[in-house]
Parts: sequence; structure tokens; C-alpha cells
Amino acid sequence: MNMATTTMTEFSVVQQILTGVELDRHCAQCLSTFDPTTVRKDFPILQTLVRGKKPLVYLDNGATTQKPLAVIDRLKQYYELENANVHRGVYQLSQLATDVYEGARETLSRFINAGKSREIIFTRGTTESINLVASSFGRKFVHAGDEILVSGMEHHSNIVPWQLLCEATGAILKVISFSERGELDMDAFSRLLSSRTRLVAVTHLSNVLGTINPVEEITEMAHQAGARVLVDGAQWVGHFPTDVRRIGCDFYAFSGHKMFGPTGIGVLYGREELLEAMPPYQGGGDMIATVSFEKSTWNDLPYKFEAGTPNIADAVGLAAATDYLRSIDFPNLMYYEHGLMRYAENRLRQVPGLRLIGEAGSKSSVISFVLEGIHPHDIGTILDGDGVCIRTGHHCCQPVMDKLDIPATARASLAFYNTVAEIDALVASLNKVIAMFR
Ligand code: PLP
Repeated sequence: MNMATTTMTEFSVVQQILTGVELDRHCAQCLSTFDPTTVRKDFPILQTLVRGKKPLVYLDNGATTQKPLAVIDRLKQYYELENANVHRGVYQLSQLATDVYEGARETLSRFINAGKSREIIFTRGTTESINLVASSFGRKFVHAGDEILVSGMEHHSNIVPWQLLCEATGAILKVISFSERGELDMDAFSRLLSSRTRLVAVTHLSNVLGTINPVEEITEMAHQAGARVLVDGAQWVGHFPTDVRRIGCDFYAFSGHKMFGPTGIGVLYGREELLEAMPPYQGGGDMIATVSFEKSTWNDLPYKFEAGTPNIADAVGLAAATDYLRSIDFPNLMYYEHGLMRYAENRLRQVPGLRLIGEAGSKSSVISFVLEGIHPHDIGTILDGDGVCIRTGHHCCQPVMDKLDIPATARASLAFYNTVAEIDALVASLNKVIAMFR
């Protein structure tokens, strides 16, 4: 088995991971492709001790990722040397701030291979991106009796905005089921699609199950039925290359803080012709062309959707995060993360009474589990004593918990800076939990 060679495109590595059986026979080789110790030096927080004693073992990357110096320093540089309000200033400093802000948009456009930077709307994050589409696309294109399809494994932020839209319009929300293993039922999806379907909203990578959904196939099927597609890329963008044109989707939403960038900034990608046809999301400064008490008219894309002073510094910080991420050897980073996930799963399977939640064939970075007879919150609290940070609860996916008939899970979620030693620390700490409770 050859690991990444210079002739292999990143997308052929993604393909190998999605159809992972062959790759899974070479987990040890996957782990040797990338040395996390060098990148760990880029993250100051990873050098800290929890309560001054235990090395930080940060396994909550699905909630938010840590920030490299490249991002921290870029924010500092912006505030020290470039800060002014954008777009309206005639003076040099305002021009500089505008240039770095619009430069960030270009960078993000390239990062997801959007056709044009005017298709990139800066938002507060995935949640706001989805709300923008539900509110604006919904107001124009969704009517009573229309249907919105979501998958059964969505985060609340890809459920509730659609429920609000359905309440306001009389449209109907329908749910695509998934199997016990965590795989989307594509036959059920096909049966649900009809001429009434206006939009399909689906996660690229589930934050509870780790499932990678076949978003290209979903998009093709939805388009054949005349429906639009929104992909929630919150958990995907920090782990794999993203190509919105390859997917073919109409909207793609993600958050900066889950891909090593700042909090409070994210992106909505939308197809130009759709964004042009959609009404503004919020009203205020910058989104208008003209205002009078009789009538206002709207600015061009992308400004029509960015009312008020934008989050300039964090957009610039997010661009620095994408530059940082792209400076890492991506094919080998992907192999490494895959190997680390399989290593973690194999070690966890040996913990007495532990059951993995989510075992889809195409899976990445998220490992949920339950321990027989021990509440996940107790697990999380005891692990914290060892400096091991995991998340416990419903992970903003209550319908997933209901479907699997569990109250909560414990979840370890990985990034490229995590190590085999950290997985071993997680397992050792879990064995302590068991010794305490049994
Ligand atoms: N979608 C998924 C799959 C997520 O995991 C999350 C956050 O955990 C969100 C959406 C919401 O992201 P944010 O809180 O950054 O808006």
C-alpha cells in the first residue's frame, strides 16, 4: 500500500478514506505519515498544564479547536497596525483594513474552491449561516405545502431554523432516517424526494456519529428533483479539503473556530444566482445602495448580506487559519487522522463495558461512546481530573439520542495535533473510571 505520493491528488486520498477498508489494514502506516510533535509547537495552549499539574490532553476538537500562533499573531498584528472600519473610509488606514478584510474573503473563496469571492458571506458561524438561508431563501422560495428535508443526524442548528421557517410558512419538515451504524438511508432519501422538496439540508460530517455523508450524491439526487441543497460543513472543513464546486451544492456553511480560527466568524457560501435572487437577511449600514423613507435599495453581493460593521479582525484571523492549515502536508495529515481514529477505536473497544456509538463505513475524527452503568457526565468529570478534555451530553443532537435510545454519550474528537500517547491517556483514565464505579 502506497501512502500519499506527489502524484496523488488530495481528493484521491479523501476517496481512499471514504472507502476505508483497504486503508484500515494499514493503520500503523497511516500513523507514521505525519509527526504531530512538530505542529504541536505551533499551539501554545498545548504546552500548558491543567491545574498546574497534568499535561493538557485536548480531545474536544468537535466543540472548538485550539489556535496556532499564526492566528494569534495575525489578530495581534491587525489590532496593532491595521485596525479601522472598512469600506467607507477615504483615508489610508481604512483602505488597508478594507484590503485585508477583502483579502480574507478571497482566501476563503480559494479555500473552498468557490467560483467567485462574492459568493462568500462572512457570518458569525455555521449557526448564523444556516439561519441566513432559512430566513432569506425561505422567505423568497418556500411556501405552504413545500417540503424541507433534513437528516436524522443533524445538529440543532440545522433543525431549528427550518422548524421556524415551517412554522412561518406552512411548509413541512421531513427527516431522512439513518441506521444503527450511523449511515444515512439513501433509499429513504430517494423516496422522500419529490417535486414538493424545496431544500435538502444535511451535515457533511456528523458531530456525534462521525459519519461522513455522501454529499455529492445527495446533491445530484436533490437537483434532479429540482431541490436546492445546503451542506453543514462545520465538522468537515478542519479535516479535509473542501471543494464546493465538486460537491455541486447550493449553500455550504462552516465556522472558523472549528478549523483553528477565531470564534465569532464563519462563512456561508452560496451560488451567485441564488444569492442575487434572495432578499437581505438583516438591514443596516453597508448592505444598502440607497436609503430614503419611501424605499431603500440593496448593495451588491456579498455586502447585501453583511449588515453593519463586520467582524474584520476575525475574518483576517480565519484567513490566517486557512493559510496555516494549507501549509501542512494535507494528504499525510488526512492519513494520520484516520489512523489515529482507528487506533483510538481499537483501544476503546478493549475497555470493559464500552460501546462505540457510530460505526459508519465512512467516518472521521469523532468517537462517541457509552460505558455501561456510568453516566457520561461522571466520565467527563473524572477524566478532567487527569487533564483529559472530552465532551459529554447530547452534543446539540437530541434527536440522535432519542433514535439510539440513550440519554447522552461521551465524545472524544480529534485534530491533527493529537497523539497516540493522548489516546493512551484517555484509555488509562477510562480504566480508572471503571475501577471507581465497579
Ligand atoms: N453543525 C455541526 C455539525 C456542529 O458540530 C456545530 C457545532 O458543534 C454546529 C453546526 C454549530 O456551529 P456553531 O456553534 O459554530 O455555529
